[in-house]
Amino acid sequence: MITNACAANVNGEGSYLAYDDIFNAVYPFSLEPLPYAADALEPAIDAKTMEIHHGRHHNGYINNLNSALENRSNLQEMTLSELVAGLNDLPDEVQTAVRNHGGGHLNHVIFWNTMTPGGSSSAGRLADAIDRDFGSLENLKAELKSAAGGVFGSGWAWLAAGSGGALSVVQTPNQDNPLTDGLTPLTGVDVWEHAYYLNYQNLRGDYVDAWLDLVHWEKVSELYEQSMNA
Ligand code: MN
Repeated sequence: MITNACAANVNGEGSYLAYDDIFNAVYPFSLEPLPYAADALEPAIDAKTMEIHHGRHHNGYINNLNSALENRSNLQEMTLSELVAGLNDLPDEVQTAVRNHGGGHLNHVIFWNTMTPGGSSSAGRLADAIDRDFGSLENLKAELKSAAGGVFGSGWAWLAAGSGGALSVVQTPNQDNPLTDGLTPLTGVDVWEHAYYLNYQNLRGDYVDAWLDLVHWEKVSELYEQSMNA
């Protein structure tokens, strides 16, 4: 008998999204189930934080993004990455909503889909590029931790790919996404307090350390490969 009753979490347990499903989704946007159970990342990230973060915060960004595009059929044809990358060319009336809620949606989809219990290993061209651009995975992790710690207020720290596959670590404020600056985000850590406050309170560095051990580098490798073919 399968005794999986604790999977009564409202967030469900779905599967990892492919590159196209992350970056090229179109209106109306919807909340996909987490690719693992809400308690799967414990003790690094507790189930309650996951449920609130995914079911309320992320869902809120999606609802607000859909509302902003509701009566704009021309924008409804754009993919999520086109909206976020082309933010500065959008009509003034929707720019802020797409920045906050389009970014909020994309950022969280990347976040959920590039974590896995216990983490995983990078492979192929990403592993080579990490060594080329950072010297080692340990150096990259140190840069990510430093960037995450240096975000004042709410925001994100990212591993991003530029033209030709050059890797860099960047910060974005609020729900901004590196795509708006011409970089493809590969993974990122949410340092809004809603992401960690229940468990870590003010100890953002401990949360970032825990996140670094959850990074699904195998999935990040896949996104990297596809970003270079996109
Ligand atoms: Mn968040």
